[in-house]
Amino acid sequence: MSFALETRRRRTFAIISHPDAGKTTLTEKLLLFSGAIQIAGSVKARKASRHATSDWMEIEKQRGISVASSVMQMLYRDHVINLLDTPGHKDFSEDTYRVLTAVDSALMVIDAANGVEAQTRRLIEVCRQRDTPIITFVNKMDREVREPLDILDEIERELGMPCVPMTWPVGQGKTFGGIMNLRTQTMTVFDSGQERLPQDFETIPLADRDTLLKRFGYEFETAEQSMELAAGASPAWDREAFLAGKQTPVFFGSGVNNFGVMEVLDALVDLAPSPQPRTSTTLVNRQPVTKEIQPEDPNFAGVVFKVQANMDANHRDRIAFVRMASGKYTPGMKLKVQRTAKELRPTSVVTFLSQRREAVDEAYAGDIIGFTTHGGVQLGDTITDGASLQFTGLPFFAPELFMTVVLKNPLRTKQLQQGLAQLGEEGAIQVFRPSVGGPMLLGAVGQLQFEVVQHRLKAEYDADVRLEGCQYTGARWITADTPAELRAFTDAYPMRMAQDAADTLAYLCTSPYDVRLAQERFPKIHFHPLREHA
Ligand code: GDP
Repeated sequence: MSFALETRRRRTFAIISHPDAGKTTLTEKLLLFSGAIQIAGSVKARKASRHATSDWMEIEKQRGISVASSVMQMLYRDHVINLLDTPGHKDFSEDTYRVLTAVDSALMVIDAANGVEAQTRRLIEVCRQRDTPIITFVNKMDREVREPLDILDEIERELGMPCVPMTWPVGQGKTFGGIMNLRTQTMTVFDSGQERLPQDFETIPLADRDTLLKRFGYEFETAEQSMELAAGASPAWDREAFLAGKQTPVFFGSGVNNFGVMEVLDALVDLAPSPQPRTSTTLVNRQPVTKEIQPEDPNFAGVVFKVQANMDANHRDRIAFVRMASGKYTPGMKLKVQRTAKELRPTSVVTFLSQRREAVDEAYAGDIIGFTTHGGVQLGDTITDGASLQFTGLPFFAPELFMTVVLKNPLRTKQLQQGLAQLGEEGAIQVFRPSVGGPMLLGAVGQLQFEVVQHRLKAEYDADVRLEGCQYTGARWITADTPAELRAFTDAYPMRMAQDAADTLAYLCTSPYDVRLAQERFPKIHFHPLREHA
């Protein structure tokens, strides 16, 4: 198959939701119906076995949250679908943001009783910033939930884009009769139960109105009316608008009952985009020039959007997750890390077939491959087969919470340094080294990040630390147009300067006024709340 055909049949998407909306359940059903797994319950089971094999995931178990996000690949209707899971807990939102940079679309799961919840709102913002196309799944229709019009209204308001219903529910909760499929003009009749396959559900043509009225009576009539209202209020389906992040197709169903799931799987194939071009910069005559990398470009290029310590606590190796932007990967290929210009020497390269990790035979743009390394790869690194370029857009957010690290046993300094360097590279936390010396500072967006890091320092690096509060409440990355201006600034605030894991200079603040005052005093200094890996 040609490059163009290989990339065109790929779909890479992230699944996002507020915790408990039904993301894990839906993920499992998508895998089940694509044939990637045989037994329902295995995604959950995997969650459980992960706890058993890795110590630091104890935290996850204790709190019932998913700390690590994962990647799964499935084959459906001759398409290669890459599903990226995202951690639901808000304290790990940074990880989620980075996952969202690696996908071409997102599947948003909404609990029909709760509507758009806090965590969904934050994720939506990121998708909106990047104009990521969003497919919406309204879940739990088998429960007593809100009116579909009311839910759509809320989604539209929160997303700031119109909803285009693709299916429409008849009744809900005890009276949930099924969904009308507007494309096929049929009604799929709901039946509860976990064993049912998609083809087992009864379908009735909408043209058979008498039958539908006889069976679903009032519920059907109400559904027809509300659907008409919804159709009147929403624009016609426009794939271009969807791809530009300007409208979202909406599906209704009940994940746990396997209901309405097939429609979502088909939408991923029929509606979601294939791998899109990705922006990079390259130096031409020492000047940065923006370049779009096309997925069918035959040269290998990809970006590390996630680094994870190997689950096995006895091994220090890590997996760098690379989203391929172009080219073809084949085993034994020579690849280079652009930041260091060094050859990448992985001990293994894996793909993520449903839940197994397997050696990669070949991979194309849109695919996620995992390089197991002993270091030398950082979050945001660009990997190519030679070309010198750097992908942009992997975000690091200025932390809002800070702690200083105090080692309980001073003889473990080396272990602590190694641990912090590696955890910083993974993006588990941001590590700042104050320019004037003194204890290292940890910066986080969510409180739980501190707990994970403290736990992992002890479990993986044998460095027992105490975390102490400090006066800082924010940081800004600093750049200046000339070295002299930068020097004047750092000379003025020596106590406030620190370097992060990528050696980028940051200014630490103790109040929101700090930045304003510093900015007034040094109008030519740029203060960045977001650092994009460059
Ligand atoms: P996640 O936190 O978003 O991954 O949510 P889960 O998939 O773990 O689901 C949270 C809870 O909602 C579990 O108890 C599921 O069994 C339940 N659930 C998921 N989908 C449905 C559904 O369609 N109907 C009902 N009634 N419960 C559901």
